[in-house]
Amino acid sequence: MIEIRNLNKIFGVNPVLRSLDLDVARGEFLALFGPNGSGKSTLLRILAALARPTSGTVRIGGWELPAEAAHVRAQLGVVSHLPLLYETLTAEENLLFFARLYDLPVAERADRVRAMLDRVGLARRAGDVVRTFSRGMQQRLAIARAILHDPAILLLDEPYTGLDQDAAALLDELLREVALAGRTAVMTTHDLRRGHQLASRIAILSRGKIAYDASTDAVSSEALPTLYADVTGAVTNR
Ligand code: ADP
Ligand code: MG
Repeated sequence: MIEIRNLNKIFGVNPVLRSLDLDVARGEFLALFGPNGSGKSTLLRILAALARPTSGTVRIGGWELPAEAAHVRAQLGVVSHLPLLYETLTAEENLLFFARLYDLPVAERADRVRAMLDRVGLARRAGDVVRTFSRGMQQRLAIARAILHDPAILLLDEPYTGLDQDAAALLDELLREVALAGRTAVMTTHDLRRGHQLASRIAILSRGKIAYDASTDAVSSEALPTLYADVTGAVTNR
């Protein structure tokens, strides 16, 4: 689904991604770890067609970036730590707005929006403005928006940021459902244990490259912090 070859991204004189190669197969759920500033968000932004590679090739679902960005975007759902919702609109209005943006068939929009709100547990708050929502509710609405057009691929950049325990547990459930729905997902997180629990595969970004990459089964949750520290050369207290 995702094919990255010899990807370089340089900001000024700062090489962030260096000859990076990565393949993600259909249905895989990849947890991407890495220290602050290692380029996780940069990589996801390139995959989301929000930033251009300095060089290298990126193919998503057979479409090439940046040339075929519109085709790529149609297959993607993106969730970041910013909800990117309209605070003065209701939950339902927000999703209807994005349904139009995604060009969903007019006759299906209202039903689809209702179904998504139900799926993320916000049906009863459909008519309330987003400004009144907790951070966790906003993040669930952001997930609903991301999967509204039933994309094959989900990109999640630190989606747990700012969530309390309960909201994080709800997001866990949602992501499990999403994973079970057979979507391909790439998620960055600092939460090694959570990433290990959710993902089918684990990768660590360090010094501009994928420095570790293996099936989740290949490393235990207990061994992951030590492995992470070894790979990144960082001290971790988790
Ligand atoms: P991470 O998400 O892993 O914390 P980022 O991808 O946000 O890392 O950033 C990687 C590096 O690229 C950092 O050194 C950051 O300062 C730099 N960077 C990110 N975006 C830009 C930008 N738009 N302009 C210049 N430098 C940037
Ligand atoms: Mg980041």
